[in-house]
Amino acid sequence: MSWKVAIALDTLLGQLNAMAPSRSKISDGAIGDAEHATRDSDHNPWVKDGDIGIVTARDFTHDPEHGADMYKVAAELVASRDSRIKYIILGGRICRSYAKGDLKAWTWAPYYGINAHKHHLHLSVKPEKKYWDDERLWKIKPQFSKPTKRYSMVFFALNKDLLSVVSALAISNHQGVICMNATEVKNYADSREEVIVVGGPAVAALGLTVGTGVTNLDKYKVLNGATGKDTDKLLRDMLGLG
Ligand SMILES: [Zn+2]
Repeated sequence: MSWKVAIALDTLLGQLNAMAPSRSKISDGAIGDAEHATRDSDHNPWVKDGDIGIVTARDFTHDPEHGADMYKVAAELVASRDSRIKYIILGGRICRSYAKGDLKAWTWAPYYGINAHKHHLHLSVKPEKKYWDDERLWKIKPQFSKPTKRYSMVFFALNKDLLSVVSALAISNHQGVICMNATEVKNYADSREEVIVVGGPAVAALGLTVGTGVTNLDKYKVLNGATGKDTDKLLRDMLGLG
């Protein structure tokens, strides 16, 4: 039987990879290998969409050194009360989006499963298609823990439409992409030595005054087209994607 991972989980994976490009993936996983199969069934494609099995759980490696602190992500996911969440497991605890016995919804409780999930966050999404097939971005924030590795390139995109284009291009080129507000852009740029800025809103957020086209400033390389489409073209040219 063919299977695929819930798009909602792949969206989170993309966001984490984008905001923490050098994060460890050692405990990442989706489809149930022998080990997963024995520990929790959402890694097995028991949810069906026609002939396709849907994997409704993913594990995300805890790597705070490289900007992927899963305890922060877990707290943000719980705070967001995202309707797609079934439950989260991390560090020997489980937080369900629904009440269980005396336990209220969205409350952390001890987790007694075989794997305590000390090194990764487990996220299960609900089995109904409207939840697992929902590709909205998750409400998680970039983390500013001191990077151990300097990134040579970081793309900033403040506009969601541009973000999807940039994400697809940049992820395939192992570059980071983060959707940020003005303050976040400023903080992030301050901690990096080289920054590629994409698009007018990001340019403005950094207080740079440059025209259209490609501009090389001190630590910034700015790609700013007259329109979003032009910016996209500049980016494609730079990445050699035509
Ligand atoms: Zn898991």
